[in-house]
Amino acid sequence: MRVNVTLACTECGERNYISKKNKRNNPERIEMKKYCARDGKHTLHRETK
Ligand SMILES: [Zn+2]
Repeated sequence: MRVNVTLACTECGERNYISKKNKRNNPERIEMKKYCARDGKHTLHRETK
């Protein structure tokens, strides 16, 4: 049930992180605060296809 997901910055769209999630625990798109090098600060990153 574990799948790879890409996390993209919601402010600039840069795809900064690759993560794994458990589809059963997180069926929705996941969001988390991560550091974005382009923005130079922590921004909200959201799962993308
Ligand atoms: Zn960014």
